[in-house]
Amino acid sequence: MKSWGMFVGGQYRPAASGKDFPVINPKNGSTIAKVAHGEQADVDAAIAVAQQASSTWAAYSGARRGDIMHKAAEILESRLPELASLEVDQIGRPINEMRAQLARLPEWFRYFGALARTQEGTVPPFDGHFLNYTRRVPLGVVGLITPWNHPLLILTKKVAPALAAGNAMVIKPSELAPITPMLLGEIMAEAGVPDGVFNVVTGFGAGAGAALSQHKGISKIDVTGGTETGKVIASMAGKNLTQVSAELGGKAAVVLFPDVDVQQGVAAALFASFIASGQTCVQGARLLVHESIHDQVVAEIVRRTAQIRIGDPLEKTTQMGPLVSARQRDLVEKYVAIGQAEGAHLAAGGQRPQGAPFEAGFYYEPTVFTHVKPHMRIAQEEIFGPVMCVIPFKTEAEAVEIVNDVDFGLAASVWTKDVARAHRVAQAIQAGIIWINDHHRIDASSPWGGFKMSGLGRENGIVAYQAYTQIQNIIVNLSSEPFDWYADDGQEKRYS
Ligand code: NAD
Repeated sequence: MKSWGMFVGGQYRPAASGKDFPVINPKNGSTIAKVAHGEQADVDAAIAVAQQASSTWAAYSGARRGDIMHKAAEILESRLPELASLEVDQIGRPINEMRAQLARLPEWFRYFGALARTQEGTVPPFDGHFLNYTRRVPLGVVGLITPWNHPLLILTKKVAPALAAGNAMVIKPSELAPITPMLLGEIMAEAGVPDGVFNVVTGFGAGAGAALSQHKGISKIDVTGGTETGKVIASMAGKNLTQVSAELGGKAAVVLFPDVDVQQGVAAALFASFIASGQTCVQGARLLVHESIHDQVVAEIVRRTAQIRIGDPLEKTTQMGPLVSARQRDLVEKYVAIGQAEGAHLAAGGQRPQGAPFEAGFYYEPTVFTHVKPHMRIAQEEIFGPVMCVIPFKTEAEAVEIVNDVDFGLAASVWTKDVARAHRVAQAIQAGIIWINDHHRIDASSPWGGFKMSGLGRENGIVAYQAYTQIQNIIVNLSSEPFDWYADDGQEKRYS
């Protein structure tokens, strides 16, 4: 079995304590590898290394950083098959899903590499004989804390703008999926990112994660994780006035209006709810269906849900793998029991699949609740598993009210052929990402993040690049007239 050190300063190092921890394959509970168990001392060392390297990287021109990031995109592309199968081993998502997701990642390095190359400063007007300009400069060393559900995608969304803007970084990946993030470090090194700019400290949230979040040596912490984790991290970072960006939980709604083709609506709902076994922050966890098509949609969803092929995630024909951990599976079981106790009707799934290949892994059937009331816990709280809650509605206003009546505000999708209604509803929904006749769509250029308890700040797009910089304003006096405030020359003094 392979043992991994943590990737710091361009090489793999053991933890200062010498300890490690196992990474478990969720399809059968076997240990895939042992990984160094980083803690405070390892975070301190990694930040010191990053601080040393940061001025070198910051001094590279945008064009040079852009070239390196384009090279990184090419190397990443060549290593995708190996990365995809490792991601499957770490988190249990089907190989088809991981291939499709990872194939997109080079776009992030190309997009942000292009931004590094093309960013311009500004020349704001300044009254009088002055040249006034602004430039964006790196923040310095930033801390990136990532979850397990899309290990490389989420890391890439943070690394690409951070690198483009000239920062060094210390990454604390999820303890459940720490291996592929380190391989990204190898790719960066091969592309020409100087050693010490991209560092990974593997470990747990309460240890390495907390040490990173409260370290005075970082200028920003960028976390993706649960809302409670985000609050804890933000409060630790706040003590040092460290900037915080946070992509947190969600309870996205899929809204099917009466003019939607039933088969298309059903396909949309299944894709929104069950991809990644529902373990995505923008999972279509609530399906709002207009009462006129409700029964037809529900009957078809129940039929199609039962046909989803659960199995070994490395098999090409598998459509749903295990959940990431026994803990996550137990949580889903707990919520299914809560839903039943609340009076929702369990229309599909609701149990572990039976039989030999499933018993050793953390499998759970895709599950559909109908007759769900908007205030029920299963319709309010993030379950992060393959559970869809179907809620009927009568009017557009009622649909909007239900969609907005949760603490979260990450995403929603609106399905209708009525253009005016689509935009009207989209604009009334309190969420950062709204799809019209689509779900789960993402692009390197398109801002991603949440309203309300779903987060702070945005990933992707120019705003993400800018959020990894700080503005420096330079005011140049173009006059050669002498200026002496304290001169006893009898003149009235002006400062302009
Ligand atoms: P999590 O909150 O358990 O962990 C996320 C990361 O934070 C991990 O690296 C973990 O080790 C670390 N962490 C945990 N406690 C910490 C602490 N006290 N101090 C510092 N670091 C700590 O989340 P998870 O289970 O890995 O991921 C699932 C969650 O992530 C869901 O809530 C999901 O909605 C959210 N998520 C959000 C987005 C988004 O874009 N908004 C995307 C994916 C996942």
